[in-house]
Amino acid sequence: MTNQLTRHKQEIRKQNVFYPNRISADLILGSANFPSNHAWSKSSIIPKVGVLFVVICFLLYVLWGTLDVTIADCTECNFSDETVHARLNESYLVCNEVPADHRVFVHDRALRDYQALPMIYFVTPTYPRREQIPELIRLAYTLLHVPRIHWILANDLKACNAYIDGLLKRFDLETKVRFAHHSFILGLPFTHLASPMPEFYRRKKPMPRGVANRRAAIQWLRQRNITNGILYFGDDDNTYDLKLFSEIRDTQRVSMFPVGLIEEYSVSGPVVRKGKVVGFLDSWVAERRWPVDMAGFATNLAYMAEYPNASMPYKPGYEEDLFLRSIRLNLNIIEPKANNCTEILVWHTQTKNRERTTLRISNKYLDDRSNLGTLIKSLDVMGIANSSDNEGRRAVISKNGKAKPLSYFLS
Ligand code: UDP
Ligand code: MN
Repeated sequence: MTNQLTRHKQEIRKQNVFYPNRISADLILGSANFPSNHAWSKSSIIPKVGVLFVVICFLLYVLWGTLDVTIADCTECNFSDETVHARLNESYLVCNEVPADHRVFVHDRALRDYQALPMIYFVTPTYPRREQIPELIRLAYTLLHVPRIHWILANDLKACNAYIDGLLKRFDLETKVRFAHHSFILGLPFTHLASPMPEFYRRKKPMPRGVANRRAAIQWLRQRNITNGILYFGDDDNTYDLKLFSEIRDTQRVSMFPVGLIEEYSVSGPVVRKGKVVGFLDSWVAERRWPVDMAGFATNLAYMAEYPNASMPYKPGYEEDLFLRSIRLNLNIIEPKANNCTEILVWHTQTKNRERTTLRISNKYLDDRSNLGTLIKSLDVMGIANSSDNEGRRAVISKNGKAKPLSYFLS
């Protein structure tokens, strides 16, 4: 999470702590019942009315803020998941599902050698932005080295993104037959979901990032009745050591391990004594019982199935804590991994986000006289950059250290 998000979190907490709904409502009722025969002199009544007006406005403002926060919290706290789905108009599409593993070898072993291993369901929320495609490519190439893994890629978008689907399909057998010459035939089992954040939350600050997607993935697992294997929430921008996967694979109920590059301590994770988790090192406590990062734990799906109300709420900063509470976690059952939490096997790397670029280049040069037309079209499809005849940053093309007009190359 970013510093800005942390600040927002603190603000929300402040609102919760200092302005409980009941108190502000009482105050407003009190002001409405203000005695009308109060002995005010004419000279003092105007400033007093002014002050009263300001106080009432302030209280209304505070009440409004509190209600806003309360609504957001209560959708999670007081209703079942089905009610939340309905109230928020929450829905997801299954764009594609390829459960079969078409790889022949993983590491130095034939695929069949891994058959007995529990499956890891690796849930990745992702969203459209300039950096999305490169992040996914990087992650895909990591996951390719992991045996018995099913990648649930849930995109924060209403519709299925055809480019991402194509990218994932490159891993499919059909594609393997059709493009036998292609060097990117990978064969990873995956599910592609389109799981947009409900509008109600998209307008909020801070936004619950990646929650709609993870909720959709949990739903997908439930709907397919998958109660075997390991569930892990792996964001699209983190860095994963391959050792992480062999560590989490034998999670009996809930395992935990440190995550590098988190917030002010540059690390977040359990404190372990004599093989037992006794506390947590994390710079943002904020009354979280489980102050851990999303990438810092794994759950066994059989254990999770014991809690049919298990859910990830739309509450920024508290997603992990409330999810782990919903599966009734207690300290005694946590399995410390990564050599008793001494090693960092996952990193909260954050890619710098920038607006997509518009390149100013005349459309008449974007034909098949050169590579430029196809290149720029592909950047457009990936959501990275587009071109315009009269807007954006001028595309300079040079030769021998000198910029030259496009006509020099292309007329
Ligand atoms: N995410 C999303 N929709 C958004 C913002 C983020 O699906 O509007 C995803 C994002 O791709 C990532 C996860 O949610 O996998 C967490 O977001 P981000 O990495 O931006 O947050 P941070 O790691 O800084 O908390
Ligand atoms: Mn991130």
